[in-house]
Amino acid sequence: MAQMIYKTLGKTGLKVSVIGFGASPLGGEFGSIDPEEGRRAVDRAIDCGINYFDVAPYYGRTLAETRLGEYLEGKREKIILTSKACRYDITDFDFSKKRLMQSIDESLKRLRTDYVDLYQIHDVEYGRINQVLGETIPAMFKLKKQGKVRFVGVTGYPLTPLRKVCLAADIDTVLTYCRYNLMDTTMDDILTPVIRQKGIGLINASPLHMRVLTDKGAPKWHPAPKQVFEVAREVALLCRRHEATIAELAMQFALAHEDVAVTLVGMSKVRHVDANVAIVGSEPNAALLAEALEMIEPVANICWKEGLPENDDPGAIDKRTLGMERSEEMTKETSK
Ligand code: NAD
Repeated sequence: MAQMIYKTLGKTGLKVSVIGFGASPLGGEFGSIDPEEGRRAVDRAIDCGINYFDVAPYYGRTLAETRLGEYLEGKREKIILTSKACRYDITDFDFSKKRLMQSIDESLKRLRTDYVDLYQIHDVEYGRINQVLGETIPAMFKLKKQGKVRFVGVTGYPLTPLRKVCLAADIDTVLTYCRYNLMDTTMDDILTPVIRQKGIGLINASPLHMRVLTDKGAPKWHPAPKQVFEVAREVALLCRRHEATIAELAMQFALAHEDVAVTLVGMSKVRHVDANVAIVGSEPNAALLAEALEMIEPVANICWKEGLPENDDPGAIDKRTLGMERSEEMTKETSK
């Protein structure tokens, strides 16, 4: 079994395993799962030294929190448990203090604990930045004072609002997803310089680009244009020819980032926990990585719109609507 590596999560001082357990699949976000296998995956992760667990009321519309709470019974103190608030369904968002105060108590009950180590505003791009800074974050700080949460952070997809919040508020962590992996590295252009400057803990989610970078490929709801999926399929075949898998290469690529403390990968199966833990400390085949990145280049750094229009990243495309010509334009706009 590979030896787990631990890093410090910015100014929180928490020592987190470099692989974090993303619990959205426990809520059935990638299709229904066998709950007993989910439980075994959580046990296996803890046995392998994974100490960071990420969940949210949104995942499976509370199912992921309920399952994780059940699986962690008696093990809570061994791990760093993180959850979120403000997003409750695909279009149900509430950034008010009142809802936040209720939401934490509901999450703690489902998670069978009386505190979370990190509490985050879920998908901050769906909120008005003025409300987030003026109401939601001060309410998060109040929860910190009450001892219900140890640290506070924000999460989201577009990098522009995350950057704004990091610059304006004294938060502990920031989480972004699908913005640093084989398909997209724009996190480094927009967010990484700010977290360095302010000592904010950096959490990178979706190193497999929400399953695009696996042999199984993207789920139906994936927002990226189909050209991204086609290129990923070619890269998966290339990896096979080198007796590797695209998931391995993608994990090696993401884990090599120096500023990221924890990379969150979604898991609900023991074999995925084993495969991902086995990557820790390994180096990618340099020639394979270079060839894969060259193949990805024409569709690299394509980002899609999420959230309120005022929070869009420059050059973000409407989900799944655009053809290759527009994607190429986008790549030119956002790549380094
Ligand atoms: P991901 O890129 O981690 O992909 C997860 C998918 O890949 C799942 O279907 C999983 O079964 C599969 N998988 C995992 N390991 C594999 C392996 N070795 N081989 C083949 N397939 C494998 O995407 P994700 O789950 O969306 O992101 C990771 C976690 O980050 C989430 O579970 C969630 O906890 C967190 N997250 C947070 C936010 C947010 O806060 N806004 C957004 C996205 C993700």
